[in-house]
Amino acid sequence: MIVKNIISSLWLAPASDAKERLSAILDSAPKGTEIFFRADDVGVPGDNCRRMIEIFRAHGVPLHLAVTPAWLTESRWATLQEWGGGDDFLCWHQHGWRHVNHQKTGKKGEFGTDRSRVAKKADLARGQEKLQSIMGASFQPFFTPPWNRFDSETAEVLSELGFKAVSRSDGEQKKVPLSDTLPDIFTNVDLHTRGEADPADGWNALMEDFEVAVRTGRVGVMLHHQRMNQAAFDFLDDCLSVIVRNNAVRLLRFDLL
Ligand SMILES: [Zn+2]
Repeated sequence: MIVKNIISSLWLAPASDAKERLSAILDSAPKGTEIFFRADDVGVPGDNCRRMIEIFRAHGVPLHLAVTPAWLTESRWATLQEWGGGDDFLCWHQHGWRHVNHQKTGKKGEFGTDRSRVAKKADLARGQEKLQSIMGASFQPFFTPPWNRFDSETAEVLSELGFKAVSRSDGEQKKVPLSDTLPDIFTNVDLHTRGEADPADGWNALMEDFEVAVRTGRVGVMLHHQRMNQAAFDFLDDCLSVIVRNNAVRLLRFDLL
């Protein structure tokens, strides 16, 4: 599998005041602040994936799962569905095709400038067809690109293929602007792929991400279950319990926008 399973430093040094700090930030959220969660690199069922889905299910919080089409099989889908227990809180959508880098230099990308439009369209279309054929009506027409980025040709192709929205990370809109016909429901809080070497810096930066996101009126939280440990699961559980108790925030679903 082409994903890293490194645990970010903050999860190796759990902070006892993390729940309090997050709670204080969310208490300051203006009424109507939107929150959503997006989990990337889904497709191969494992313990971490099951635990993640169970936590969302227990709190009744919607989760958007970005599935890598090449990884999914009928039997894997059956297992994922079983964990979803009826599916109503899960929004299944597409995450690239094989999650491989095709860029020759610079930042990684599966749908960047170093591939032809024809090659990119072929991969997007077969990913879409595969997910539609396995998931049926559970497949939602949204696209999360691997590494959160794609080029402007890919944006055109996604519209041609009928995708209704994409989800990248904050800042990508400046690099590859999208029109209103393909909105970017971007994430602005990264839980599990943080790069701070020092855990205290990691915690401060994570809380700052939440603070800044709250001020924008929409908090989009990105998860990578392969990189979660016990501390990361505990924080996720705390995070969702704080959110469901907060009357000012509204849980967002891509499929209900
Ligand atoms: Zn990914």
